Amino acid sequence: MTFTDLPKDDTVEELRSISEKLNSYYDNISDILKENILYLVKNNPEGNNQLMQCATDPNNGQHYLIFDSNDISEIHDSIIAHEFQHLVMRNNGFPFTTPVVETNQHRKISSAINNLLQHKQIYEFLTNKGYTAKCDYFKTNIETLKETIGFNGNNPLILSPIGSKIFMLLYADHYNIQKTISENFYDNNPIADFIHEHYYSIDRGAIRILNRMKERGCGTKEQQIDFLKDIVSQFSLIDIVNGHYIEGDNVISINFNDE
Ligand SMILES: [Zn+2]
Repeated sequence: MTFTDLPKDDTVEELRSISEKLNSYYDNISDILKENILYLVKNNPEGNNQLMQCATDPNNGQHYLIFDSNDISEIHDSIIAHEFQHLVMRNNGFPFTTPVVETNQHRKISSAINNLLQHKQIYEFLTNKGYTAKCDYFKTNIETLKETIGFNGNNPLILSPIGSKIFMLLYADHYNIQKTISENFYDNNPIADFIHEHYYSIDRGAIRILNRMKERGCGTKEQQIDFLKDIVSQFSLIDIVNGHYIEGDNVISINFNDE
């Protein structure tokens, strides 16, 4: 995948013009962060103008917001605020992971962990700020989940060991978001029913992950670093993800060996 740089000032102006809420949100995120974001677009002719992602370079702390399409004026403000908020948390010292090797599976694990760590706070933030389409991302999350398990309402896929780990982490994230948005997890959620029926151990495993998060707490940077170490050791992910956090101008590596 190749990327093209978007001109910063034009992009920021365009994002600000999407909604008044986003405009004032942008005023409030720290100047340090604003200076440190590069805007990229995927060279993807079939790009979806409702998809975005963020990334942080662990070598220098450079943040990226990556759009799937050039047509950024159409993106819902909640999606943009969501991605910014991932970077705000990283910039404030919350931990994040990167894949050790750039393979599809390692990337999926890394991104599922990052989402699991941050999504509760992000969805609470979006809800409190009154962003209306807070479920947009949830739909993307469900699509990824369906793709991972080959969901078609019939037969479950046989998963490889790493496939099961990806699935469990993705599902824990899905569960976490759904719980944050609404208490009634199993109501009108066909994919949850399917998983409960066909992947019972994954369903239970995801609940165990979330219970551990709750018991240990995951609201502070320190708690998140502890939880991240726990996840890496529990799922034997030491060769799959690296952990980092930002302190001042530096990106610090988290040592997973002493767990
Ligand atoms: Zn997210």
